[in-house]
Amino acid sequence: MLFDTHAHYTDEAFDADRDAVIRAVHDSGVGLVMNSSSDEKSSREAVALAEKYDFIYASVGWHPEDAAGFSERSLDLIREWVRHPKVRAIGEIGLDYHYEDAAPRELQKEVLERQLQLALELKMPVVIHDREAHGDCMALVRSYPELTGAFHCFSGSAEMAKELLDRGWYLGFTGVITFKNARKALEVLEMCPLDRILIETDCPYMAPVPHRGERNDSRLLPFMAAKVAELKGLTPDEAAHVTTENGKRFFGIE
Ligand SMILES: [Zn+2]
Repeated sequence: MLFDTHAHYTDEAFDADRDAVIRAVHDSGVGLVMNSSSDEKSSREAVALAEKYDFIYASVGWHPEDAAGFSERSLDLIREWVRHPKVRAIGEIGLDYHYEDAAPRELQKEVLERQLQLALELKMPVVIHDREAHGDCMALVRSYPELTGAFHCFSGSAEMAKELLDRGWYLGFTGVITFKNARKALEVLEMCPLDRILIETDCPYMAPVPHRGERNDSRLLPFMAAKVAELKGLTPDEAAHVTTENGKRFFGIE
């Protein structure tokens, strides 16, 4: 069994065939999916999807790209959503400095920090999106040492990974680890202890080789498990098992 720890099945890329894809994913041996959110609409839809399918769970929150849509009311909504038994994390939240026209950095930081504080208050793990914002993300991680979380699609250095691991954090690996130019991600995967590795599709984005550029879904997660197996000297089944157990432990799923 596999656990896709980061997917976006509420994305419009699945509007035409969402239920068929989700059924096919389940039939393929993916036994758990954590559906991630980025704003009010996707959070509401993620909760609804988790209600509809036993094997789908939800995380809720405001992505840095949607920082401008965040308000005091957002915090009330998160409080309300996390009362649902299938909501297991606040995310994806974080900082994204890639786009010139993104929300101002100060606003992104404020929106992230409000959600980190709420996660601490609610005793929920966080799922962090960090794109070209390693320094500021680490500064926040350091200011909230009691926080537990995962960096999804981890893109930092081995040194940054080490600090996060020392602080008890988990690292998420996408199809990037199957790319030819994945040297940095593979270096991190190599040094990451087996019990802190999460695998994820981040679908519909980030399809692994040999499907790079196509619409991604959790049926392609075995490519990530195979890469973990190859680097860690495991069978693909062992890699699937250990990463599934990690995901269950991280999100508190029985
Ligand atoms: Zn994502």
